[in-house]
Amino acid sequence: MKHDCHYHPGDPAKWHCGECQVHYCTRCMPDADTRQRRALCPKCNKAMRYMGAATEVIPFWNRIGAFFRYPFHSDPLIVITICTLVPIVAPANLIGILIWLVLALALFKYTYAVINHTAEGHLKPPSVSVAFTGSGFNIVILQLLVFIVMGGLVGLAASVGGPLLMLLALAFVVLALPASIMVLAMERSVGAAVNPMNLAVLISRIGTPYFLLYGYLILLLLASGMAQDFALTQFPIWLSQPLSGFLNSTFTLILFNMLGYLLFQYQEELGFAADIQDETSDMDMHQRDRSTRFDADIDMNLKDGNYDRVQGMLKESLKQNRLDPVRLEQLYQLLVARNDAIELYQYHPRILGWLADRNDGDGIASMLNMLELAEPGFKLDDAELAVRCAQCLYHRGQFKLALRLLQDFHKRFPESEELAPAYLLVAQTLANGMGQWEKASAFLTFIQKRCANHPLHEQIPVFLAQVEKRELLKGPKATFLVQE
Ligand SMILES: [Zn+2]
Ligand SMILES: [Zn+2]
Repeated sequence: MKHDCHYHPGDPAKWHCGECQVHYCTRCMPDADTRQRRALCPKCNKAMRYMGAATEVIPFWNRIGAFFRYPFHSDPLIVITICTLVPIVAPANLIGILIWLVLALALFKYTYAVINHTAEGHLKPPSVSVAFTGSGFNIVILQLLVFIVMGGLVGLAASVGGPLLMLLALAFVVLALPASIMVLAMERSVGAAVNPMNLAVLISRIGTPYFLLYGYLILLLLASGMAQDFALTQFPIWLSQPLSGFLNSTFTLILFNMLGYLLFQYQEELGFAADIQDETSDMDMHQRDRSTRFDADIDMNLKDGNYDRVQGMLKESLKQNRLDPVRLEQLYQLLVARNDAIELYQYHPRILGWLADRNDGDGIASMLNMLELAEPGFKLDDAELAVRCAQCLYHRGQFKLALRLLQDFHKRFPESEELAPAYLLVAQTLANGMGQWEKASAFLTFIQKRCANHPLHEQIPVFLAQVEKRELLKGPKATFLVQE
């Protein structure tokens, strides 16, 4: 049974909370530790079960082509080439036999590593070094022991129950052989690999696909045998021998890759969890931080319809970080969507500041209209914010609103440094936006009289001259001359 995320239908679930009976995807669990397979439920804070990639693994019968391409990656090709070609040129003496033995061991080890590697979700083959370094060369002896024990079991069946029981035992051994190889590769234990109960459980958990795989394995063996036979009969010995060795290794890798993939595909049923391991999933670890968890919580609560809770979370977060633009935007959007004029009014200085930072004249305009509804005759009591907002409005062509924002500025903020820029903006709005040149001229004259100390003061004659000629008020031409 494959599950989707409760909050993102269509996205495969990666985590399941047994307490809340909710499935979560990776997007919902940015703070989860995939490597350690640990995550806490966002609702009840209990540890959750990792589902791995079980929910999104492509069934093996839909990727047969990928199995055949598997041995032709550079790493397995190097291993196969070394292990099949070197023994041929090795001297025909004791050293030659030794080389042959070591390389056979390495190839053997590599093929078993393919099962583990694939079962863990690596879709690319293990690196060359796996064949020649580290421990695990005893896998050959273990596999040999498995065969001996199995032979012993069949022999025992024959002596106890006669030919019928022997045939049954033989049939079971043949049927369970792939399962036994899988168990041996994963657990490295002869006992586990020959335990009939163990094998029967594995086969029954996988179910029909095991027999489908079995069919593929027989086809592969037949194909491999025919290809090798063809090579041996059609080519001279110096070519046919390495060729048949190469074919043999290639088919073994395909086969073992399939076995590993079967484990990977049925991980959930078999009781372990692995995720597709590619380079990008290494990122998961570093991205864990609290703000992504917060975003995921907000997303979930919105989808659950807990708007009050989301509002509370955002307000709480804005207490810690008063001007966090991300949270301000979220709060703004939520309040607008909920048409919550009272809260909008309460947060208007920060929201307007954020909108002005983004140069969002239209946003400011709709915000002002909402504030006007909440409090008719609304006036901003922050001089600098008023000028910044009016500038955005002016640039969006919202001339009337810009003027309204700066109305009676000299009475509301008589001592403000912003008076000169505010009235210059008013003059520009009147002249450039509305063609009211006389009024614009009056505001410019006002600055000339009242703001003698402001840096803008010395530019006023230029503006007045522009008004005189009915030119757009742009101020003095920019100059790159250094002033003396
Ligand atoms: Zn999700
Ligand atoms: Zn829970």
